[in-house]
Amino acid sequence: MVDLQGQYKKIKNVVDNSIQEVLESSAYINGPYVHEFQKDLENYLNVKHVIPCANGTDALQIAMMGLGLEQGDEVITADFTFAATVEVIALLKLTPVLVDVERDTFNIDIDALKKAITPKTKAIVPVHLFGLAANMDAIMEVAKEHNLFVIEDTAQAIGANYTFKNGEKQKVGTIGDVGTTSFFPSKNLGCYGDGGAIFTNDDKLAHTIRGIVNHGMYKRYYHDVVGVNSRLDSIQAAVLKAKLPYLDDYCDARRNAAKFYNNAFANNSNIITPTSSCCGEICDSCDCHVFHQYTLKITNGKRDELHQHLLDKGIPNAIYYPVPLHAQKAYQDDRYKEANFPITNELTKTVISLPMHTELDDEQLQYITKTINEFVD
Ligand SMILES: *Cc1c(COP(=O)(O)O)cnc(C)c1O
Repeated sequence: MVDLQGQYKKIKNVVDNSIQEVLESSAYINGPYVHEFQKDLENYLNVKHVIPCANGTDALQIAMMGLGLEQGDEVITADFTFAATVEVIALLKLTPVLVDVERDTFNIDIDALKKAITPKTKAIVPVHLFGLAANMDAIMEVAKEHNLFVIEDTAQAIGANYTFKNGEKQKVGTIGDVGTTSFFPSKNLGCYGDGGAIFTNDDKLAHTIRGIVNHGMYKRYYHDVVGVNSRLDSIQAAVLKAKLPYLDDYCDARRNAAKFYNNAFANNSNIITPTSSCCGEICDSCDCHVFHQYTLKITNGKRDELHQHLLDKGIPNAIYYPVPLHAQKAYQDDRYKEANFPITNELTKTVISLPMHTELDDEQLQYITKTINEFVD
């Protein structure tokens, strides 16, 4: 699905030099690279505060702790996403409220979101799934009307630009009260281990969060709040600092591969290619999709056969996600009615994700698309 070796080889010198510096400095935790990467990412995202942490799941948890969410508060998120999003809500004894998604964008459905709001609702967690920005115009409007926090799960979409209805652009993850991301190796900006970060433009919230990631300490050995230990280590920060300047090129490479796929499947009536626009016509040619995944919908009922056929042909592929979150054992709840999740239920049966990374060449793309078009016709 990804080619991390190929990507590493192209930037081996820069990355190796950075890592070597950390090894020789012996500042393995909170070394200068962590601070430098933080500053570089603040500049790249045009956000006031980046707080690095240990992984993308921690980032979500810490964001929710930082906002002061409490037991019983309802937090709305999408039924169709990676489990980490709902996991931390449940872990903090908040009440997860899962809602259906849109068929075209795979992102949270705005009508379903509005219907799920109760007097107990405190926050919305939009996930920019597969790299496509969620409809932030609508989400921010709903949040403002009901006085809700917005926590953007940007684990799959770092680098994507959201274009507002008024034409202004802003990096996803910096639009809501707080944004989170993951630097897991296969994410669009990946390190060589675990890593994550939290973004916010709110000075007070940033201060609170900086304490929480470090055992609730604002002054050494004075613990004002219950915190966690969640750090980005210096070696990962060195890798990320070396890779960040390439992120825009990486996004372009993914978009180019997506274009190749789109063209190759354009005339196949049993395949629906992913939309590349987050809010309709306005950003038809915009950069709101960074294709963390390239996900097709197979409409002739043969998705599972295709999955097996591609494996037989040596073509990696994956079903993200095979089970809706509301149907997962850990997150079942009597409040959920199947009739409320028609789209997620459908998507879990039709979606298939193809190899998507920065190193795909035309020969590989040709082979993948030819194999698929021959099988699905
Ligand atoms: C990967 C991912 C996470 C979690 O990131 P980790 O660094 O693996 O903890 C959270 N949310 C989404 C949508 C993800 O894809």
